[in-house]
Amino acid sequence: MIPFLDLKAINAQYRDELIDACTRVIDSGWYIGGSELEQFEQQFANYCGTKYAIGVANGLDALILTLRAWKELGKLKEGDEVIVPSNTYIASILAISANNLTPILVEPCIYSFNIDPNKIETAMTSRTKAIIPVHLYGQLADMPAIMDTAKRHELLVLEDSAQAHGACLDGKRAGSWGDASGFSFYPGKNLGALGDAGAITTNDEELANTLRALRNYGSYEKYKNLFQGVNSRLDEIQAAMLNVKLNHLNDEIAHRRKLANAYLKGINNNAIILPKKEDDSAHVWHVFVIRCEHRDELQKYLTDNGVQTLIHYPIPPHQQPAYKEWNDQSYLISEKIHAEVLSLPIGPTMTMEDINTVIQVCNEFQL
Ligand SMILES: *Cc1c(COP(=O)(O)O)cnc(C)c1O
Repeated sequence: MIPFLDLKAINAQYRDELIDACTRVIDSGWYIGGSELEQFEQQFANYCGTKYAIGVANGLDALILTLRAWKELGKLKEGDEVIVPSNTYIASILAISANNLTPILVEPCIYSFNIDPNKIETAMTSRTKAIIPVHLYGQLADMPAIMDTAKRHELLVLEDSAQAHGACLDGKRAGSWGDASGFSFYPGKNLGALGDAGAITTNDEELANTLRALRNYGSYEKYKNLFQGVNSRLDEIQAAMLNVKLNHLNDEIAHRRKLANAYLKGINNNAIILPKKEDDSAHVWHVFVIRCEHRDELQKYLTDNGVQTLIHYPIPPHQQPAYKEWNDQSYLISEKIHAEVLSLPIGPTMTMEDINTVIQVCNEFQL
């Protein structure tokens, strides 16, 4: 079976470096808020091209705490509307609801799978105060157009970059376009820890300071609590793992691009619609997502022929029981995407031989 993603093989590449880093932390006697985190925050901010990076416990907290910080700073208030793509992973939307803000779903472009910038203005009301563009599947959303709309209407922009570490357009990386950006380092993401971790990037010093307090019980200074904060910290062991893996991220992205280009060139079956990349550097291929009207048959056929696939994602957010109030609404493009998408294997340790096998199996699919 060609696995969808071989996490064990991915981390095995850096086994010695990871063990050295773990040993360093174990022997230091310092496990929360130390030099590994400081180094990672600095390196990751440099990598993204921002002044600050603030480590937190996971990607969902990165999004929740940024919106929360904007509330504490008086830039958002309960009931304000936040625009978000209707086909995103549920976490982008949960972050809005968790802050008692109102998510406004806007449909994506079916070719890029990212929010359609032309639909943002029609969805806006006088209560709309922010946009969360999501760089879905690893491809930057149309940030020049989104930033232009945001500027004209004075909206805050929080990028959800959980799938797009390193994606770059016009020399600007994911995480450096908006007022702030949330990242996830869940093990399966392109930059993955060996457990949960996340971060926020921003150039805004006041926001960075507020986030540092919020992640630590609302405290800047021990035993002085400015906010009713939370405990959402990126621990030293995970920061140490990320310090190792960040050094290899660009090589891994280059390998993913090579594999994706082989798929784009090699798959040639009228039943399969290939993903569209706008620009080579703007896509880091977190997942390689095709569309097929007979998706379930294709998935079964691929499994039977030794190719493991996943669906990102099978149920659109507006049809989830968690959001009952939207269950009778329809978002036709999202519904079509959720019914047709299938993610083929891709990853930094996958070989060209495996890619060629998947291409051949795909090309032999018949209804
Ligand atoms: C993974 C992911 C998140 C959440 O990250 P966690 O670290 O799992 O909390 C948020 N948004 C998107 C688009 C994601 O893919």
